[in-house]
Amino acid sequence: MSTIGWVGLGNMGRPMTANLVKAGHTVNGFDLVEIAVEEAAKHGVNPVKSIAEAVAGADIVFTMLPKGEHARAVYLEADGVLAHADTKTLLVDSSTIDFDSARALHAEAAKAGFRFVDGPVSGGVTGAEAGTLTFMLGGTEEDVAEAKTFIEPMAGNMFHAGGEAAGQAAKIVNNMMLSISLQGVVEGAVLADRFGLDPKVFYDIATVSSGDSWPLRTWYPVPGVTETAASNNSFKPGFATALMHKDVGLALAGAETQGLDLPAAQLVHAQLQKLVDAGLEGLDTSALIKNIDAKAEG
Ligand code: NAD
Repeated sequence: MSTIGWVGLGNMGRPMTANLVKAGHTVNGFDLVEIAVEEAAKHGVNPVKSIAEAVAGADIVFTMLPKGEHARAVYLEADGVLAHADTKTLLVDSSTIDFDSARALHAEAAKAGFRFVDGPVSGGVTGAEAGTLTFMLGGTEEDVAEAKTFIEPMAGNMFHAGGEAAGQAAKIVNNMMLSISLQGVVEGAVLADRFGLDPKVFYDIATVSSGDSWPLRTWYPVPGVTETAASNNSFKPGFATALMHKDVGLALAGAETQGLDLPAAQLVHAQLQKLVDAGLEGLDTSALIKNIDAKAEG
């Protein structure tokens, strides 16, 4: 079995590392937040106090961080991965980050003699817990093939999306589509309620009808309807509004560079911005329902 270094033990990193431990690997895990490390240790992760300790002797290092700025810091700063890992160690960033940061990490890693893969994921916390995430991998054929052998216990699907930053490209487009579907679901949930429909009955109808979608089935924004929804738990994430706001922003920034106008993505971004401005960016993204019905319960 292998030794895996892991940096970033938040909502996703925690269950992902738990599956690597279950598969028999030794996982040395670090997070800036002590309680995140303690929680991961309950699932068998070996808790460490620095990036240097996390990467020492690792066959592969994974990072699962909020944004590009965090990933740049973790890889590039003096106490970071490139300064402390062995160049034989394969590096995989599974955070969802902007293209510029992803390209910069590929370039800086190569300059320092490392192999680097961008490998963002889809499937949310439920997919992370179940070990059924979809991984979208960007890098060389050989590096992606090697990364897949470690990723397997965390994944339902693994795709070689293309060369450097191609994983991020696929992920950003996917999340833009997800956010647009979710906006439809929150509007539908409120309208169904106002029409007097029982939410569970409507859910049962829509999930086998043409209104079906992943956020409908997984994130229905009314409590007591579907087990996996953050609405059952006061909109505790799940997938935080701040992260979706970031992802749709990345899609819009990318679209601008291509001269594309994406009206639905702009609308959802404005709806997410409303939650951020109201100080609700820490709630799950399905709290978008609060823009339609301020009294929506979660
Ligand atoms: P999170 O905020 O719960 O976890 C990120 C962790 O990184 C935090 O515990 C934080 O303390 C840690 N961190 C930040 N800077 C650090 C540093 N310098 N050193 C060590 N640790 C550091 O976020 P998450 O929900 O786990 O998401 C992680 C990434 O995965 C994001 O890019 C997100 O967009 C993406 N993602 C999330 C989901 C989801 O459903 N939550 C789904 C798919 C992809």
